Amino acid sequence: MKLYNTLSKKKENFKPIKGKNVGMYTCGPTVYDYAHIGNFRAYVIADVLRRYLEFKGFRVKQVMNITDVDDKTIKGSQSEKVSLKKFTSKYTKSFFEDLKKLNISKAAFYPKATENISGMVSMIEKLLKKGYAYKTGDGIYFKVSKFKGYGKLAGLDMSKLKAGARVKQDEYEKEALNDFALWKFWDKKDGKVFWDVKIGKGRPGWHIECSVMSSKYLGKHFDIHTGGIDLVFPHHTNEIAQSEAVNNCKFVNYWVHNEWLLVNGKKMSKSLGNFFTLRDLISKGYDATAIRYLLMSGHYRQSLNFTLGELDSVKKSLDKLCSKILEFKKSKDKKGSISNYVKDFSDALDDDLNMPQALAVVWKLVKNSDVGSGLKYKVLLDFDKVLGLGLDKVKKVKLSSDVLGLIKKRDKARKEKDWKESDRIRNILVKKGVKVSDSASGSAYA
Ligand code: AMP
Ligand code: ZN
Repeated sequence: MKLYNTLSKKKENFKPIKGKNVGMYTCGPTVYDYAHIGNFRAYVIADVLRRYLEFKGFRVKQVMNITDVDDKTIKGSQSEKVSLKKFTSKYTKSFFEDLKKLNISKAAFYPKATENISGMVSMIEKLLKKGYAYKTGDGIYFKVSKFKGYGKLAGLDMSKLKAGARVKQDEYEKEALNDFALWKFWDKKDGKVFWDVKIGKGRPGWHIECSVMSSKYLGKHFDIHTGGIDLVFPHHTNEIAQSEAVNNCKFVNYWVHNEWLLVNGKKMSKSLGNFFTLRDLISKGYDATAIRYLLMSGHYRQSLNFTLGELDSVKKSLDKLCSKILEFKKSKDKKGSISNYVKDFSDALDDDLNMPQALAVVWKLVKNSDVGSGLKYKVLLDFDKVLGLGLDKVKKVKLSSDVLGLIKKRDKARKEKDWKESDRIRNILVKKGVKVSDSASGSAYA
C-alpha cells in the first residue's frame, strides 16, 4: 500500500515498524462546542484508513486524544459558569455520540489532556534539562533554534523564520517569534483552572499534550499520525520537535493529512460561521450514513465542497445501493467471477486511499449482471468493512398508511410551493422517525 507522507512529500510504501501491528494516532477534538462535519471529515478519513489497514490484515491500535483544556474551553466554562470538567464532559459526550452515528470505529484509547498532566510535566522537565526549553515570566517555551531540522514537515524555510525572530513580540515573553509555549503560567483569566506542579502553577500548551499522549500508548516511535491539513504547522511540527528532542529517535514514520471540507469554496469553520454540525443536519432529516458517504467520497488529499443538494443526491445513491443490497441478499446466485473487482477495489485503496476509484468499483460491481447477486452480496459486505456504511444491517422499512398519507400531503405542498406546510409536515415525519431528504428533483423518505 502506498500512502502520501507529508514528511517526505511523496507517496511511500507502507511498512509498519513491528510486523503486522500498526500504531496510529489521530488528533482529536477540542471539546468546547459540537464538532462540525468539517471536523468529522478528518475523523471519517482516519477511520477509512484504519479500516482499510485492518481489511489488509494489519492489527491497528488507534489512539485519539480529547483536548479538554485550552483558552476556548476555559472561556466557555466561565461564560456558562460551570466547572471546566462539567463543560467539557457535555461536548465530549456529544462527540462520542456523533462518532457512533457516523459509524466510526472505536479507538483503543481516548486519553484526555487533563488526565495526563503529570506526563506533560515530566516531559517539560526533560526539555528544560536538555536545554530545549526555557522559563519566562509567563510560561515555559520550546527553543525552536535549538532543534535541528525544525519545520521539515511543513517545508519551512528556517532562514526566513530567523528574520522574523528578531521582531520583538509584546504579548508573549518569549525569546524568538517561533518559540512556542509548553506550559502557561497561571493568569487570572484562567480562574480556577490550573495545576500547581513542580514546574510552576499553570496549564499545558496544546502541542505537548499530543506528544505525551501518543507516546504513552504507542511508544516513542510509531507508524501513523493523522489530522487535517491545518495541523501540519504549527501543531504537528511542534509535536515532532518536542518528541524527538526528548526521545532522541524518530517520532512518526507516516504523516497523513486530509484537505478541507469547503462551503462555497471556503473552509468550513466555526470562525467563518459556515458550518453544519451533525446534529443540525440529522434534526433537519438528513441521514448520518449519507453524511459519512459524502465525507469519504472525495479523495482525502483534495478539498471537497459541501452542499445540501449534494447530500440529497448522495442519499439517493445510498438508497439505491441499499435496495440493491436487499435484492442481492435474497439471492443464492453465485455465478461469475469477482476476483478482478476485489483486485481493483484494493488497487484503488492501495494507491494512497483512492476512494473515488474504490467507490466506482463498488458501483460497477452493483450494475454488472454477469456476476450473480448472491456473490455480489458477499463481496459488497466485505467491501463495507472498509466503507462502514452498515450494509449488513440494511432492512426493508415499511411505512405505515398514516406516514404514507403525510408524505402524499407533503409532496402536494411542495408541488404548490407551500414551503411552510411542507416544513410543518416534515417536522411531524421526522418526529415519527421518518428520514426525509429533499432535492430539486424530488423527495425521498426512509
Ligand atoms: P479542531 O477541534 O479544531 O482541532 O479540529 C479537529 C480536526 O478537524 C483537525 O484534524 C482539523 O484539522 C480538522 N478540520 C477542521 N476543519 C476542517 C474542515 N473544514 N475540513 C476538514 N477537516 C477539518
Ligand atoms: Zn494533536
